[in-house]
Amino acid sequence: MEKLEVPAGYGRAFNVAKGDRFRISTPKGQQSADFFAFRADDINECLSPHHTWMPTRSLHPRVGDTFLSHRRQPMVNFVEDGADGLHDFIIAPCDSIRYEQFGVPDHRSCIGNLIEAMGELGHITPERPLAVNFFTNTKVEDGFVFNTPKRPVVAPGGYVVLEACMDLVCAVSSCPYDLVGPGWAINSPDGPTEILIELL
Ligand SMILES: [Zn+2]
Repeated sequence: MEKLEVPAGYGRAFNVAKGDRFRISTPKGQQSADFFAFRADDINECLSPHHTWMPTRSLHPRVGDTFLSHRRQPMVNFVEDGADGLHDFIIAPCDSIRYEQFGVPDHRSCIGNLIEAMGELGHITPERPLAVNFFTNTKVEDGFVFNTPKRPVVAPGGYVVLEACMDLVCAVSSCPYDLVGPGWAINSPDGPTEILIELL
């Protein structure tokens, strides 16, 4: 893989070797990229935001962080941030159950995208992995989480650079969320857009 385009609202999976660096970008800006990672020789070991932010002591990914697996093993280093820190460790990836609850049962979802993308590489996705949500601006105030339309958004060309700490299967979903609830909006009001992945 040199370059991989994740179509708007869809997902793609890819292999990286230990030491590989890769860039994930939002060419049009303001598009959440749900990032998943799995240990290549044991797909059941997956990246866990919750195990990561305990030692980093931040609910937002920051350069210098090492993202851990649910077995607390280093998986990915966060090397460079070209998106002004607008990333999230908190929100669970959207899934078909969430959209059924919203009354749109046939809506695409990040978990659906992940399962499709992993399947294309011959992998069965473990049950309910969590994602690091790049280009997603959440704010925590007094214990409450906000993601409102009135907030800084990631500019076109916003990016992150990551480095694999082990051989990995990674996946990225261009989050297809396009609903707007009171005080809550994730992506551009014009709908989801593509995400670009480049091996450096
Ligand atoms: Zn999503």
